[in-house]
Amino acid sequence: MKRLIDFHCHVDLYPDYQNVITSCEEEEIRTLAVTTTPRAWPRNRELTMGTHYVRAALGLHPQLIGNDVDSELALWEQYLPQTKYIGEVGIDGGSRFSDTLKQQVRVFNYILSKCSEVGGKILTVHSVHSSGLVLDAIKSYLPLDRGIVVLHWFTGNLKEAQQAIELGCYFSINTRMMQTKSGDALIKLLPLERILTETDGPFVKINHKPAHPRDVINVVNSLAGRFKITPEEISKKIFSNLKSLLNDYQEK
Ligand code: MN
Repeated sequence: MKRLIDFHCHVDLYPDYQNVITSCEEEEIRTLAVTTTPRAWPRNRELTMGTHYVRAALGLHPQLIGNDVDSELALWEQYLPQTKYIGEVGIDGGSRFSDTLKQQVRVFNYILSKCSEVGGKILTVHSVHSSGLVLDAIKSYLPLDRGIVVLHWFTGNLKEAQQAIELGCYFSINTRMMQTKSGDALIKLLPLERILTETDGPFVKINHKPAHPRDVINVVNSLAGRFKITPEEISKKIFSNLKSLLNDYQEK
């Protein structure tokens, strides 16, 4: 099937990342290669300079925030003019990261305000155990006309999902979300025009192997079941969502 979209994949974390990029190009899988630290940006930028279907995003992952956060943030800001895509960024409210929660919120607010200042960015955002905080930050620092948030692997409750819809957010859905009751309830609530697909590979595994961008076909098939339309139709719809989101993938 043509027109597969993996809007959140850690391409640089696969041992054979060059093969992953080559297969996305050959199979025409539109893939957003997210990064976890701005130190990885120059390499990811280089890898995606000549690609037609793979784009790189400039990230600063909330789980990796530590003592060197201010130099990381300065580096992130330095590279900001080089890309339209930002991520993975966000807040992780899990107990493992509670020591850095305050810093995470400060960093995310700063990232959102910088994106708002320059305008036109698309962000792929982590919101594990922090949906409320993430939505508050978006509401305060990134007006809809200054940038668009794609909530990656959103696990907030239905009220939060409603708020996110009102804030103009998109949602990138992966296979793991489709396997839980809460994920299923969430997906039923989402307007079809706000849905994108992702693998979150290589973290998400399919049949005990890291998900490859082409595995988003599984999400497409499950979504087709949920919305009671054919996989071709859902895939066409998701492609048109991506087009209206960025109007970019055809141009390069
Ligand atoms: Mn991720």
